Amino acid sequence: MQPQSEPSVMKAVFDQLKEAHFDICKHINFIDITDPSRSPEADLEKAGIKYDSILRFTDNSIKSLADGGYTMASADGYTVNFLLDDAPQSAIFLGSTPSGISQEDSESLFWTLQILFVYHELMHAKDLKIEKNFSLSDRKVDLVKAEIYADISTLRFFAKHQKSGADVFRNLYAAGILGRAKTPIYTRIFNGITKSFPEAQLKAWASNSILPPKTQ
Ligand SMILES: [Zn+2]
Repeated sequence: MQPQSEPSVMKAVFDQLKEAHFDICKHINFIDITDPSRSPEADLEKAGIKYDSILRFTDNSIKSLADGGYTMASADGYTVNFLLDDAPQSAIFLGSTPSGISQEDSESLFWTLQILFVYHELMHAKDLKIEKNFSLSDRKVDLVKAEIYADISTLRFFAKHQKSGADVFRNLYAAGILGRAKTPIYTRIFNGITKSFPEAQLKAWASNSILPPKTQ
């Protein structure tokens, strides 16, 4: 991995990640994530992805996602899980303006953000595949643990490749974590992340981020 400032290099890293995880997820698409009329069904159909039924997972420990302060509206990407010929599959949808940044604003920053968001979503798809925090038999998910798993795996991946320039991604991701709203669900997720990456470490990385925490 050799990220530099040229946009084509960032796009190449994105494509490389996509190809390296083809066994986990074959479908990665860009959508207008702010469109309120969207649904998993509509997103799959629009992307021309064949499916038999949507896989929906519930977490009984969380009464209301909205009360817990966990909303899709602010998400920069999401993963739709579905069944096709009885096999579970995932499709990743990424927002076309990550953190409000369009490709025209800054192509390099656009792809840098998409690299972070696609890796996070790929870790959700992997989680389902290995059934770490998802259970296919009873369609249950531990939502907080699934988010912690995706965040920690993402940080770990980019921290591991820091010598080849991935510290840019690691720092930006740390800033993103610190910039999240302090809602009950995100506070539980944050506390889980700090068991692997202490808050002081996240703050040190975020202090070198190319975007400050609040813009995430
Ligand atoms: Zn997530």
